[in-house]
Amino acid sequence: MRAPLLQLTEAGLYCPRGDFFIDPLKTVPRAVITHGHSDHARPGMGAYLCHNDSIPILQHRFRGRGIFDGLQYSERRVVNGITLSLHPAGHILGSAQVRLEADGEVWVVSGDYKRQPDPLAPAFEPQQCNVFITESTFGLPIYQWPDVDDVMQEMHAWWRGNIERDMISMVQAYPLGKAQRLLFLLDRSIGPIYLHASVADMYMALRASGIDLPDAEILTAATPPSLLRSALVITPGMTDAERLGSSAMAMASGWMAVRAQRQRSPSGVGFVLSDHVDWPDLHRTIDETQAETVYVTHGYEDDVVRYLHEQGRDARPLAHLAIARR
Ligand SMILES: [Zn+2]
Repeated sequence: MRAPLLQLTEAGLYCPRGDFFIDPLKTVPRAVITHGHSDHARPGMGAYLCHNDSIPILQHRFRGRGIFDGLQYSERRVVNGITLSLHPAGHILGSAQVRLEADGEVWVVSGDYKRQPDPLAPAFEPQQCNVFITESTFGLPIYQWPDVDDVMQEMHAWWRGNIERDMISMVQAYPLGKAQRLLFLLDRSIGPIYLHASVADMYMALRASGIDLPDAEILTAATPPSLLRSALVITPGMTDAERLGSSAMAMASGWMAVRAQRQRSPSGVGFVLSDHVDWPDLHRTIDETQAETVYVTHGYEDDVVRYLHEQGRDARPLAHLAIARR
């Protein structure tokens, strides 16, 4: 019997026949990257292979250091006899599932993914495969996303209410992914949108690389609070809230689906907007892959595996890919 297409090593998921790692944890010669978030794309690798749209993100994050090679979605690359291709994951700009094929066997690594629409990420395309490795960030039945339009209506009502109370609206969101998604979703007729400096940094880098993003104002130390009266500020955290005076803070995240987590957020106000799959979409996706074996990682592994077992599926936590090797 041949070795599995992927193994779990100390440096992360490794393809022994192709001699490359996927989203490696340690410095390795060859890294295939699913997307530009820092828990998937780390600096210092010998060479990077990723979707073309991830290259400006990685170059910006690593200050240009690295050798970057890009693929389009569905473009095939043969690496030491393994046919590798990237397919839309719908998570953030450039995010990709990694599909590996050899001797008629297909493995797919989902990376982070979602099924809700995103103006910057083409819709997730399910890949039929023998083995599917899925994330499980929100792998509990309590995580079920409301419709994005409904969430945005709530956010807009909150924003209008803040203007009436003479308060600046501040929405906490990840600088890469969520912040840009919000720029497309927010209604500019309500007021101006400002970006906190650390959100503006990635925004300007993406724009400079030719990514078409809606206009926004940049918040600087010199921005007078009077200009912000009707504004919504996208910020990575509580920064600047004190300097700006009277402001209302809210968080835009999948974690806001749970009341206890919402109450722990600095303001107690939360909008359920996630770049990951919720529980129903996770299982719909697994069904659509028709995978014989599912490995689960990055979140609620045990809960998802238990549920899949109840459905009669062959499912294991990803850690088993390391144990099987010994
Ligand atoms: Zn991510």
